[in-house]
Amino acid sequence: MESVSIRDVSLNFGAVRVLENLNLDVMKGEFLVLLGPSGCGKSTLLNCIAGLLDVSDGQIFINGRNVTWEQPKDRGIGMVFQSYALYPQMTVEGNLSFGLKNQGMPRAEIQKRVKRAAGILQIDNLLHRKPAQLSGGQRQRVAIGRALVRDADVFLFDEPLSNLDAKLRSELRVEIKRLHQQLENTTMIYVTHDQIEAMTLADRIAIMRGGAIQQLADPATIYNRPVNKYVAGFIGSPG
Ligand code: ADP
Ligand code: MG
Repeated sequence: MESVSIRDVSLNFGAVRVLENLNLDVMKGEFLVLLGPSGCGKSTLLNCIAGLLDVSDGQIFINGRNVTWEQPKDRGIGMVFQSYALYPQMTVEGNLSFGLKNQGMPRAEIQKRVKRAAGILQIDNLLHRKPAQLSGGQRQRVAIGRALVRDADVFLFDEPLSNLDAKLRSELRVEIKRLHQQLENTTMIYVTHDQIEAMTLADRIAIMRGGAIQQLADPATIYNRPVNKYVAGFIGSPG
């Protein structure tokens, strides 16, 4: 079953067409990676799915529901950005619970969710610290936790690891993979320009160029049978 469906989506910024008649089906529980160079439209596409940008044309469906004109908060999505964007004056617990409080969720339910997310991400012992007292990797876990407490069935990640050093990147890659396995039936759409990240995380990879998808397939197929020179060059296959 499709979790997210993109139908003929185009987006213009002024006279510039950034997404070009794009179609994509992401299956329930799938880990889909959007891979492509800087400027090809990855973040724009993710922001359209999240509802942070309006499409110029086309439609977006989540779990079969047409969400094209729905508010971000109604779409059942959790989003993790490249920059941590934590509230510096709040504790980790405050950061995790802030969005839920704003929604008016009962206190007991908030506590339950914060505890669960903190356990999964192994930040239980950091709940009373402020962001300035955390390492980069810990901060990024809190950022993931903020998406996790929403109990969404679709998670969008926009280059969540690109500000971290190589060692932390590979550690958190394993964490994110584990998180996906643990949260059964949760769909993840993960944007990166890093080929290794794409190859290790993805069930399928969508290779983007100039606001369109060039090839959509599992990592082995992309590597062994790229549809054109661009894909071959990007994924670094000799063939
Ligand atoms: P990526 O995430 O793949 O690096 P983006 O989706 O951020 O690419 O950007 C795609 C294209 O749209 C780029 O050419 C970028 O300069 C342009 N763009 C992004 N945001 C805006 C904006 N708010 N106004 C005008 N152009 C934008
Ligand atoms: Mg981007």
